[in-house]
Amino acid sequence: AAFEGLTGRLQNVFGKLRGKGKVSEDDVNEAMREVRLALLEADVNFKVVKEFIAKVKERAIGQEVMKSFTPGMVIIDIVNKELTELMGGTQSKLAKANRPPTVIMMAGLQGAGKTTTSGKLALMLQKGNHKPLLVAGDIYRPAAIKQLQVLGAQIGVPVFSLGDQTSPVEIARAGVAHAKENGHDYVIVDTAGRLHIDEALMEELKQIHEVTKPDEVLLVVDSMTGQEAVNVAKSFHEQLELTGVVLTKLDGDTRGGAALSVKAVTGCPIKFAATGEKIVPLEPFHPERMASRILGMGDMLSLIEKAQSNIDAEKAAEMERKMRTAEFTFEDFLEQMEQVRKLGPLDQIMEMLPGMNKAKGLKDLKVDEKQVGRVEAIVKSMTIAEKRKPEIINHSRRRRIAAGSGTNVAEVNRLIKQFEDMRKMMKQFSSMMGPKGPKGGMK
Ligand code: GDP
Repeated sequence: AAFEGLTGRLQNVFGKLRGKGKVSEDDVNEAMREVRLALLEADVNFKVVKEFIAKVKERAIGQEVMKSFTPGMVIIDIVNKELTELMGGTQSKLAKANRPPTVIMMAGLQGAGKTTTSGKLALMLQKGNHKPLLVAGDIYRPAAIKQLQVLGAQIGVPVFSLGDQTSPVEIARAGVAHAKENGHDYVIVDTAGRLHIDEALMEELKQIHEVTKPDEVLLVVDSMTGQEAVNVAKSFHEQLELTGVVLTKLDGDTRGGAALSVKAVTGCPIKFAATGEKIVPLEPFHPERMASRILGMGDMLSLIEKAQSNIDAEKAAEMERKMRTAEFTFEDFLEQMEQVRKLGPLDQIMEMLPGMNKAKGLKDLKVDEKQVGRVEAIVKSMTIAEKRKPEIINHSRRRRIAAGSGTNVAEVNRLIKQFEDMRKMMKQFSSMMGPKGPKGGMK
């Protein structure tokens, strides 16, 4: 699948970092060397890789990482943010004309998916309660007009055509006029592609640009072609001032190079990402989502962010150590509950952890705000020995604790069960995200 190689390699790098309690400058350098190779192998532009690594390194070697109790997490976070930035930072929206119709000119080489994408774009607009018109301007590729007409019929969007004997410039002009007269608020002009960029093509596109004055010039590129797609984008942009790029075939085996380089090389944002041959609504391109997809982390990243802003680093590090060395007590349990609650509802946090949603005993782990007080009372009714060694809490001790805390034995049982579950879970949690200390880590 797309990005598979890159994702795997990056996860490898970060896995190694996560295994370290302290990260030295050497560690960062080594990790960055591997990230660099991974990006190059994913066919990311050489210059782009160089700048990217320099940026990440600068931030990583700064205080942010070294002082953190979870350096691996901080580096993932930095890489994630820089990847997002690389792809444009925030979502770049489709332009809208002050006075309709908004004219969208589609350009691209043959086979990039221009006609298919025009259909997807029309469907997206139609689903957004707009009234798009498709204009069949590709008179050279055999059956391109027919293809667009079939697409249009399929999604119920009208297609304007003057056959293949009229010049594409005239078709585009007449198409936009037709849209105005018929109350269409968007016009999508499908233009002719070529197998390669040539002067005749560019000249024709410039003329279409001239007569239609498009609000949006979208270049459709095939992401599977990697750097070639980036070169095509660069050439087009030099001659035609694109306003956006559409990456197609992201469902395929793309290594990621095009997605990661286009914006940096051309300065032109990726506005949409297309997948599949079926006509489904075109999807806006979200740099931050793409970055986390590339990192293979999903919601893990938002959890890392939350954890960083909410958890007291020193306390958490101490807790980590205790958990590893099995010193984790009921008093720690209480404190841990407080810390974790700062992240939000526990069940929600669990959902964000890969694999965690299947963890056993999760259902019993709901943290009820009102219950925390009762839990506190139960823990306070334990003797020090009991808090330190919950294993010794037998039935008669449970009865005593229940009486002392004004609760009942069932509640005490439940809490002890929760404690054991939490211990197990924290073990998984820390082996997944946390640093491993000098004692050799979890067994
Ligand atoms: P055009 O020459 O640029 O107009 O390209 P077409 O729209 O005719 O698409 C060329 C081929 O690529 C067709 O077989 C499409 O079905 C296919 N195609 C287009 N977009 C995608 C996509 O996002 N994913 C996949 N897998 N195939 C696509």
